[in-house]
Amino acid sequence: MERIKCLIIGSGPAGYTAAIYAARADLKPVVYTGMEPGGQLTTTTEVDNFPGYPKGVDGPSMMVELQQQAERFGTEVRIGHVTEVNLSKEEGGIHTVVVDSTTTIEAETIIISTGASAKYLGIPSEQRLRGGGVSACAVCDGFFYKGQEVAIVGAGDTAAEEATYLANICTKVTMLVRRDEMRASKAMQHRVNNTENIEVLYNTEVDEVLGEQVVEGLRMVNNTTQEKTEIPITGLFIAIGHKPNTDIFKGHLDMDDAGYLITKGKSTKTNLPGVFASGDVQDKEYRQAVTAAGTGCMAALDAERYLGALGAH
Ligand code: NDP
Repeated sequence: MERIKCLIIGSGPAGYTAAIYAARADLKPVVYTGMEPGGQLTTTTEVDNFPGYPKGVDGPSMMVELQQQAERFGTEVRIGHVTEVNLSKEEGGIHTVVVDSTTTIEAETIIISTGASAKYLGIPSEQRLRGGGVSACAVCDGFFYKGQEVAIVGAGDTAAEEATYLANICTKVTMLVRRDEMRASKAMQHRVNNTENIEVLYNTEVDEVLGEQVVEGLRMVNNTTQEKTEIPITGLFIAIGHKPNTDIFKGHLDMDDAGYLITKGKSTKTNLPGVFASGDVQDKEYRQAVTAAGTGCMAALDAERYLGALGAH
């Protein structure tokens, strides 16, 4: 069976930064990309807040460059999804993971950087019309609604960013905010409010997505007056946050109520020796590309020190 010194699960900024550091420390890291190679940044447009890019950079390009940087030092990047883990509780123990439900490999250390995935409202009409006009990624799917009217649910930075993105493509964007204010940063709110074809409806939630095969409209409910109104739309974008991708670690690793992995103190150590966590999978607070990259670096250093203390490196 193949044995890897440093297995990195996930290919966002955390995973690739861990790979850069681990490769330079000669840990011969192997990255399994997961289902979304490059992670969440591949579904974003402009990244303007990552240090070192004075003119900004588009998310997918940045992830390609991060991958190339990791490969330059000898990281092996494999397309594959880890479907099962069997983690050792012993100091120096060997962990096993199953990839794509078929291949079992062993790892001396594991860095978990599996990130988080988009949440949905969970109402039947939304679920039925996923792929038929309901999407959680404006950047991926906005193009299909060029010149049409759409709506977006959510009030955080993602919703605000996606609303302005859609406003460039679509004739009108209706933004549904469930409270009487947005959570998004003041700068993003300012952008939304200054975009003519975005209408923000506060205290408003989705009652039902209308249409049989494809989205044809939206019935909304004002949660203070209970008044219901309908608008014609062809696309509905859901931007209400994310869920950490930790299902395969349940029962193995300590996590909080929302499923985020718990790390010890300022380190990236989980409750099991040789298993480290970095990026959004362990961070519901900051969730930035740069903080994910920072914790990826920390995880690689923690893994190197762990192996060093065992005399295994
Ligand atoms: P957030 O968790 O910040 O926001 C989620 C939003 O969805 C909240 O406004 C919430 O409402 C709303 N919401 C949640 N559930 C429902 C529901 N069932 N119905 C209606 N609305 C709902 O997630 P984001 O994805 O927006 O952002 C995640 C992190 O990423 C944040 O830290 C953000 O700052 C960061 N980010 C930064 C960007 C940048 O700097 N360029 C771009 C995008 C994200 P409520 O407010 O009432 O809880």
